[in-house]
Parts: sequence; structure tokens; C-alpha cells
Amino acid sequence: MEDNVFTIAQDKQAELVDRFMEIINRGTLSHAYLFSGEEGAGEFEVAMTIAMRLFCQNVVNGKPCGKCNECRRIMSLDHPDVVVETPDERSIKVDQIRHIKSEFTKSAVEGNKKIFIISGAETMTTGAANSLLKFIEEPSSDITTILITTNKNIVLPTIISRTQVIDFPEATREDLVSRLRSNGVKQNSINLLLTLTNSVSEINSWLEDDWFYHAQEKVEQWFKYLVKDDRMAFTFIQTDIMPVVNNRQQQQLVLAMMVEIFRDLMELRYGATDSDKLSFPGLVKVLTTQAERISSHQVIDNMNILLDTNTSFKGNMNFQNILESTTLKLLDVMV
Ligand SMILES: [Zn+2]
Repeated sequence: MEDNVFTIAQDKQAELVDRFMEIINRGTLSHAYLFSGEEGAGEFEVAMTIAMRLFCQNVVNGKPCGKCNECRRIMSLDHPDVVVETPDERSIKVDQIRHIKSEFTKSAVEGNKKIFIISGAETMTTGAANSLLKFIEEPSSDITTILITTNKNIVLPTIISRTQVIDFPEATREDLVSRLRSNGVKQNSINLLLTLTNSVSEINSWLEDDWFYHAQEKVEQWFKYLVKDDRMAFTFIQTDIMPVVNNRQQQQLVLAMMVEIFRDLMELRYGATDSDKLSFPGLVKVLTTQAERISSHQVIDNMNILLDTNTSFKGNMNFQNILESTTLKLLDVMV
């Protein structure tokens, strides 16, 4: 089935979708909700699914069909009774609330069923919030407002107290793995990616133009030179690693990858991990061989060198110098 807001909502928050479908079937949907959770946890998609369920002409097993005219118009943000607002220039302004308010008034007059989906609730100015709250509390029975926030801590308390807050659970590691797999992310990169972040949108940005794969490949090659005590590890920094790092975030990621390789090594050395849990499963043979031949002192020395590297990085030293000096120190303790 083609991905749409409904399938994404089910994929990310199956339990919440079921819960809301049940609430709507019983006719006990509240007037105002605040959906709170991480970006990408499915808040918008669940809100849209609720809208589809309310308007769908062909509800199947208590769920919207995703195919009828109403469902399609909602999905293409082209339904007159489903009003979607996102923050304008980083905050929800009184003007936007006025627009919503005029929609509210219209529907109150016509007695229409209407749903308002407003993201960025934490950016709402006090004026906008007060204005919104005034009509949220009017008992026009067929209006539902869903506010969405990724940072509940800074949402105005008056909003929190007048809405039903729904906390969206973070995706589990298994969920994330299966999402990355179905997005076609390379198996050998999945553990490493999830060690570095749990945000799928961040991962997608790293994978643009295959940047992450290139960088990972370079770091793996660098490590192979190191374990052979090959001085190429040093020149490789300038010839191959520096060309793939174009900004501070990429520098940070490359450094984090280097730390992760040595963490894999340490965990194998102490028998603390299964090979399928390694951040670098593609290096399992190299890592296992190395783990068998080095002493626990060497493992600790390696980690200390990398921790120093992180400190230098935070101190804004020249990145190439940092990597070169780290490489020399590692070569010293490798054999
Ligand atoms: Zn439908």
C-alpha cells in the first residue's frame, strides 16, 4: 500500500490510532487536544487520521478508507472543514488565529463538523493563545481542535490546562530499525546510525547524496590501516577523510564514528556484546581479530586517546590536526 498519513500514523502510533478510532466510534471525542512528542513521532499523521475518520464516507472496520473523495481531499490539504495551520515565521500569530476564528464562527453558524489542526503550539504568542482559548471553550459541539507541540515544557500553561494532553511515545529501537530497513538504509549502517541519533529525519539528512555511507566507508578503511599498524592511516586523513567533511556537523559525526569503532572493539574485548549489535558489523572479522590480540591496557589507552580527541574538538582546534595527532597516538599504542 502506498504511504499516506493514515498508513504512516498506523506505522508509528498503532495504539494511539486504535484508541482514537475507538473514541470516535463511541462518540466521545473531546473538543481540544494537545499532542505532545518528538518531531516525527506521528503527531500530525494521527491528527489527520482523526480528521479522515470524522469525514470518511466509507469507514471500514471503524477506520477511514483513505480512498474516498473526503479522505483524498483531507490528505491533499484541500478540505474546507479540515483547517491545518503551521507556525508562520516561527510563531503562531494573532492573524492566523483570526483566520481560524472566522472559520470557527462560520461553522458555528452553519452547524458544520470541523477540525482544526495547529502545529507549533509552543510558538503561540500569548495574544494568539488567549484568542484561541476563547473559542476552544465555546460549546459548539462539532468542533475539534488538535494542537501539536514538540516541546510541551514551553507551551503556555493556560493551553495545557484547557486541552487534553496526549503524550506520544518515542519509537522503540525495533520500530526504528524496521523503518530504516523499509526505507532501504544499508544494513551495515543501521546500528551505527541509531547509536548516533534516534531521529529519522536527522538520519535522512545524513543519508543525502549517500554522505553517511561514504564517511563510514572512509572511517572503516582508516581503522583497517590502524590495526595493521600501517602509516597510511596518517596520510589517509588528508587524502580521504578531510575531503568528505565539509562542515562542523560532519566533523562531529566522523569523530563519533571513530569513537564507536573503538567502543565496538572494547565491547568485543570484554565479551560484552553480540556481533549483531556492533555499530560496525561490516568490520566484525577485523574487530574480533584485533580484540583477541590486544591487551586490556591497550583498549583503555585507545579510549583515552579518543576522549582527549573529543576535548580538543570542543576546544575548536584545527580538525585535520586533531585527527592526525589522534592517528599518530593510536598508531603508537596499537602494537
Ligand atoms: Zn474515506
